[in-house]
Amino acid sequence: MQLATVKELSDGLAARKFSSAELVQFYISRINRLQNSYNCFISVDEARSMAQARAADALRAAGKAQPLTGVPVAQKDIFCTQGWLTTCGSKMLSNFVSPYDAHVIECFNRAGAVNLGKTNMDEFAMGSSNETSFYGPVRNPWDGERVPGGSSGGSAAAVAARLAPAATGTDTGGSIRQPAALTGICGLKPTYGLVSRYGMIAFASSLDQGGPMARSAEDLGLMLNVMAGFDARDSTSLQRASTDYLGQLARPLAGLRIGLPREFFADGVSPQVASAVDAAIAEYRKLGCTVVEISLPNMGLSVPVYYVLAPAEASSNLSRFDGVRYGYRAADYDNLEQMYERTRAEGFGAEVKRRILIGAYVLSHGYYDAYYIRAQKLRRLIAQDFAEAFKQCDLIMGPTTPSTAFKIGEKSGDPVQMYLSDIYTIAVNLAGLPGLSIPCGFDGGGLPVGLQVIGNYFSEARMLNAAHQYQLATDWHQRVPSGCE
Ligand code: GLN
Repeated sequence: MQLATVKELSDGLAARKFSSAELVQFYISRINRLQNSYNCFISVDEARSMAQARAADALRAAGKAQPLTGVPVAQKDIFCTQGWLTTCGSKMLSNFVSPYDAHVIECFNRAGAVNLGKTNMDEFAMGSSNETSFYGPVRNPWDGERVPGGSSGGSAAAVAARLAPAATGTDTGGSIRQPAALTGICGLKPTYGLVSRYGMIAFASSLDQGGPMARSAEDLGLMLNVMAGFDARDSTSLQRASTDYLGQLARPLAGLRIGLPREFFADGVSPQVASAVDAAIAEYRKLGCTVVEISLPNMGLSVPVYYVLAPAEASSNLSRFDGVRYGYRAADYDNLEQMYERTRAEGFGAEVKRRILIGAYVLSHGYYDAYYIRAQKLRRLIAQDFAEAFKQCDLIMGPTTPSTAFKIGEKSGDPVQMYLSDIYTIAVNLAGLPGLSIPCGFDGGGLPVGLQVIGNYFSEARMLNAAHQYQLATDWHQRVPSGCE
């Protein structure tokens, strides 16, 4: 069962080959056996998951099953989940049991899916390696000495190690695509506004977007069909006619124009990543696509722009964690101010504090124009680069990350090196565009390489079509880390 995709599990449940209760039991035992090796989960609640599984079986017996009914899905611990511990990877929320469900959780509940547990993540989704979690680092199933990427590293590693058929993630600067690439799975960051942020703990609200992580493009589509849709509780949620994200999977790719940004293939990308990506592009040519070189001239500014804007928004969003309303509160203090100070000093980790300091600085009187306003203007230019590029091509492709998975500890002492691991993903968030990553090969050390596909606004169905056709022609997405077969 562990080798099955969401699609296969959905079909198996429909054909009554197994029940949801059996399926969930199977995954829970696998998680119990392998949790110590990878540390993918922050909490599992067997009783709750099993109750949902039995409810799903009852729905099916009543003839009310939908495609995901009874399918187990792991949820990133950034999504508030009623009755579950929801920590966001932080000591600050280490005692927080959510009184309500995030929109995304409601969507999966309505579809009859089973919550398999809450996955480990970088603290408040700040990181690219899953090393900033209060709950300890996640290990990459392809090599336990290496990071799975971040911040959705627990979700990525869980899917890669077959501890869950699929999981949710969130992507502010690359946190779905980068860990998907480093663990050899598929991940999609939708167009900003497609998936409601209600109940998704905020990091940088103008960039945050939830999305699916799974083993195939088809599975991403099945999940996006459940997750996407208007929600009045998120003021940036988009009100549009609903789309079937599986609707274009079979469309031939002949005539599809692929743009290769010169800047993605310049210095900085490892030769082995570049050659796997080149081979993927060659495969697309065989499938009838045409390839044009394009340029995103302001790409080089995306990391610095992001590290002004994201911390600015984070410093504001994280001001709510003050020890008064919910979450952690320092034990010893003499007065209110000391209570705030100690709560925040003890409750937040080093990376989160760094972001709050940077954010408060760039928003402060005297620096606001020089940094924050300037970064907003550059953000517009970065978005315009993509608008120009999409006049020449339908989809943009390139590497998801500059290198394959790095060693635990290798970059944790050097924030700038860590920030640069998102160099190919961040511009997409700044522009609000959709982007996905699919496996496209391995380096000499057997570590997976991700191909990034970037589309114009709302082109998810076409992107999934391009990814699916590639997956019909190749088998990179079917490789399993040894020990996880
Ligand atoms: N690695 C980036 C950061 O640390 C992006 C994180 C994310 O997408 N949540 O901010």
